[in-house]
Amino acid sequence: MENKNNDTIIKDDTNNEYENVCYICRRSESQVGKMLKMLDNMYICPDCMQRTFDLMNSSAAFSSPTIKPKQDKKETDEKSDKPERTETQTNNAPNGNNANGVPPILNLGSGFLNLDNLIMPGFFNADTGIPKSQRVKKAKPEKKAEGANEMPAVLDFKKLPPPHKIKEQLDEYVIGQERAKKIISVAVYNHYKRVTKDAEGSIEIGKSNMLMIGPTGCGKTYLVQTLARLLNVPLAITDATSLTEAGYIGDDVESVLSKLLKAADNDVDRAETGIVFIDEIDKIAKKRNVTNRDVSGESVQQGLLKLLEGADVEVPVGATSKNAMVPMTTINTKNILFICGGAFPDLEEIIKKRLSKNTLIGFNNDLKDQFDNDPELLAKVNNEDLREFGLIPEFIGRLPVVYTLRGLDAEMLVKIMKEPKNAILKQYQRLLELDEVDLQFDDDALTAIAEKALEKKTGARGLRSIIEDFMLDIMYEIPKDPTIGRVFITKEYIEGKGGPRIVLRG
Ligand code: ADP
Repeated sequence: MENKNNDTIIKDDTNNEYENVCYICRRSESQVGKMLKMLDNMYICPDCMQRTFDLMNSSAAFSSPTIKPKQDKKETDEKSDKPERTETQTNNAPNGNNANGVPPILNLGSGFLNLDNLIMPGFFNADTGIPKSQRVKKAKPEKKAEGANEMPAVLDFKKLPPPHKIKEQLDEYVIGQERAKKIISVAVYNHYKRVTKDAEGSIEIGKSNMLMIGPTGCGKTYLVQTLARLLNVPLAITDATSLTEAGYIGDDVESVLSKLLKAADNDVDRAETGIVFIDEIDKIAKKRNVTNRDVSGESVQQGLLKLLEGADVEVPVGATSKNAMVPMTTINTKNILFICGGAFPDLEEIIKKRLSKNTLIGFNNDLKDQFDNDPELLAKVNNEDLREFGLIPEFIGRLPVVYTLRGLDAEMLVKIMKEPKNAILKQYQRLLELDEVDLQFDDDALTAIAEKALEKKTGARGLRSIIEDFMLDIMYEIPKDPTIGRVFITKEYIEGKGGPRIVLRG
């Protein structure tokens, strides 16, 4: 059924695909929880119901039963000694509803809220319901992704596999970064061992929160995502730049826990064993030479301290900031693994300065050259360098596991394109396989793609956009011609100097 504005009015039906919406506040069932059904198509959420009760209580003195103010009494005395009651209270139908079929709870009389007045003709009545534009579709039960992108939860942190098994699983998805994978496997193993055996023994094992340093696009986020999926624990990824000290524009530090709670489907127990990844942590370094309050730098580090350490934190549910309308819950962060990551530009300079300061004068120039060409320079980072960079000592102290990831070279980029279980080339091959076409990539074509990605200086992140760019024509043209059986992507095609090699069927 369509109304004048072409806005479909949906007849309510609990089985339909739209969520029920609160008649008063217009929030949907997924936001407010189960609602009370009042009339055919009218639902009221618990909040509004509560408010209605509160309002009723506070307005009871004026409306129900209506005892008229003193000056009116003379007139009423003439008719009767009894206090005058509101009309609706005497108008009840035998089933408890009034003559209009409205249940007594909402039939609050002229002194309060008469729903009959609220119902606009053509907008809401027993037959129509709420316009489609104001309704939220019910969330469909989540289907497990099939095919290339699927990553089953193979490790269960309650039956912890040893670190080398964790690393073996990571190897299937993350290329290179061997040291980082080793460190993260051991740290995660220790962390979850501590969580599962926490109650036992008198020696408390410290938290293994981590700090991950590496250039953009080298796999920091991907490593954490893969780990959380393998372990089947909830993961929240936050950008440190969006955080500010409580009370200022931006998200409070507690918002990272709200995200974790959301990732755990609002299950507090699950959230309390999850992983929080805070990216761009270098952006909250202490600002130098600032005279005003550093609300997005040092103050955020201060704010994060208690979270990293382990504390009961009050967290808004379903929102990133606290306000009167948002329900709150308490999360204990003792068993939450915090991993901070950042590119830390200029950190190499700080390390170089420290290392050359420690050497004899006179040899400095030789050593400086040596440091300039050292690919492992970043791995020599220590707490002193991090302090110099702008992290406060208390913050560094709560991140005991520090490690670095290397920038990716062309060879690693080629491997990233073809080797991981869900490698991007495998994904395209699978797509064309569905059209019964065999897609192949020449080796020098892959090197050409890797070099293009290196020019972009965004690590492996640039690969997908480059590949998608030239695959567009292939994906468009190939299905047109059913005689094509095999396509080779050539270097010339990547460089725009030629086309792909095509082999016909038969
Ligand atoms: P960052 O280090 O900036 O957090 P990401 O982890 O977001 O970078 O990497 C971007 C994308 O590049 C990932 O989604 C992943 O597909 C790919 N990638 C990066 N590094 C690797 C790696 N070592 N192995 C496999 N894929 C990687």
